[in-house]
Amino acid sequence: MFQTTRRRLALWYTAVTALLLLIIATGVYFYVRNTLVERVDDTLNHVVEVVGRSLIIENTTPPHVNVEASFPNNAVALEDDHIDLEWFSPAGDRLWSTLSDNLAIVPLHPSMFGETVQIQRSSGAPLILRQITQAMGDRQLLGYLRVSEPWFEVTKPTRELVVDLGIGTVGMVAIVGAIGWLLSGLAMTPIRDSYQRLKQFTADASHELRNPVAVIQTNVQVAIADPDPQQQQQNLQVIERLTRRLGRLVDDLLFLARQDSGIVQVRTEWIAIEDLLEEVLEEQGMTAVDREIDLTMAIETKGVGILGDRDQISRLFTNLVDNALQYTPEKGKVHVELSKRNPAQILIKIIDTGAGIPEESIPQLFERFYRVDPARSKSSGGTGLGLAIARSIVENHQGQIQVESKVGTGTTILVMLPEAIGV
Ligand code: ATP
Ligand code: MG
Repeated sequence: MFQTTRRRLALWYTAVTALLLLIIATGVYFYVRNTLVERVDDTLNHVVEVVGRSLIIENTTPPHVNVEASFPNNAVALEDDHIDLEWFSPAGDRLWSTLSDNLAIVPLHPSMFGETVQIQRSSGAPLILRQITQAMGDRQLLGYLRVSEPWFEVTKPTRELVVDLGIGTVGMVAIVGAIGWLLSGLAMTPIRDSYQRLKQFTADASHELRNPVAVIQTNVQVAIADPDPQQQQQNLQVIERLTRRLGRLVDDLLFLARQDSGIVQVRTEWIAIEDLLEEVLEEQGMTAVDREIDLTMAIETKGVGILGDRDQISRLFTNLVDNALQYTPEKGKVHVELSKRNPAQILIKIIDTGAGIPEESIPQLFERFYRVDPARSKSSGGTGLGLAIARSIVENHQGQIQVESKVGTGTTILVMLPEAIGV
C-alpha cells in the first residue's frame, strides 16, 4: 500500500515537473526561433537598403537602372556570402541574379516582410529560402530587388536547440524523478510509522476486549448449565469483576481517543495541588492498608497550585499512586513529595520501594498497552493504559513526566507542572 502511494506520489511529482519543463522548453524554442527569423529579416532589409543606395539610375524616359553598372562582376560584395540578389524589371522579368541558373525562378511577389519559399531542385532536397522583395524607385517604378538568405540559417541553430532542450528536459525529468522518489519516501515514513502504531493499538485493544468477553461468555454458559445457586453466585461474581474491568478499559480507551482527536475542552481552574494529593492518598488509603504499605506524603512548599482540569489531574495522580501501590510488595513504602522548582514549576515525586523497572523497558513505559511483566500486571487487573493516560494528561497541561528506576530498589515518577498563582 505504501509502496504504491509512494510510487504514485513520485510519478505525479515527476509528471507535473515534466509538464512545466515542457512548457518552458517550448517557450524558449519559439522565442529563440522568432529572434533568429527577425535577425535574418533585419539582415535582408539592411541588404535591400545598401543595394538600393548603390543602384545606378540612367535618366532616360522612363528612367531605368543600369544593371551591369549597378551589379558589377555579376556579384555584389556583401559581408554575408549566403545572401543572394535578384533584380526584376518593372514588368516582372528577372534581369540579373546571383542564384545558380539551374534553379527555377520563384514568381515575383513584392513584400516588405520576410517570406519563406521553397524551390524545387532537379536533384536532392528542395532549397528553402527566406526572401524580401522590394519595389525600387522614388516616383517611378524602376524594378524589384529580391534578397534571399537560406532558411537553414534559422533551422540549423533551432534544430541544435531542440536537441539541447530535449536532452536537458529528459535529464531534468530523470533527476526530478529520482528526487521525487526520495522525497516521497521521506514523506511516507511518518505516515507508515503512525499507521503501524495504529495497527498495533487496534490489535492490542481488540485482544484486551476479546479476552474478558470470552471469559464472561464461558461463565454465563456454566451458570446456565449448572442450577447450583452457589456455583451461579460464583459465576456472577466473575462476570461482575470482568464487566467492571471492561468498563474501565472502554473508559480509558475513550479518554485516549478523545485526547488524540483534540476535541476535549479542558475545563481550566486553579487547583491546590496539596489538597488534591491529599484526596488521592485518602482514596488509595484502603489499598495501602490492605497491602500493608506505608503510604506517606511530604509537602515542602505549601499553597502551590496549577491551572488545569481537576478531574484529569486527579486521574493522573490516582494512576501513579495506584501503580506505586500495585507494584510494591507488601510492607513496602510509597512516598509522595510536593516541592517547588524554579522557574515557576511544581515537582511531584511518587517514590516507591517496589520491584523497579528494567532500564530497557523505560522508553516503552508510556506506550499504550505496554506492561513490563504482562502476567504480573494482568493478575492485578492492569491493562497497560495507566501511564499512557498519565503522559497524555501531563502533556495537556504543558508539563513533563519522567521515570527513574532501579530494579530491586524502587521507582520514582517525577511530574513537573507549571505553577499558577491562586486567586
Ligand atoms: P492500568 O494502569 O491500565 O490498570 P498497568 O498498571 O499495567 O495497567 P501502566 O500503569 O501503564 O499499566 O503501567 C505500565 C507498566 O509499567 C506496568 O504494567 C508495570 O509493569 C510498570 N510499572 C508502572 N509503574 C510501576 C512502578 N511504580 N513500579 C514498577 N513497575 C511499574
Ligand atoms: Mg497502572
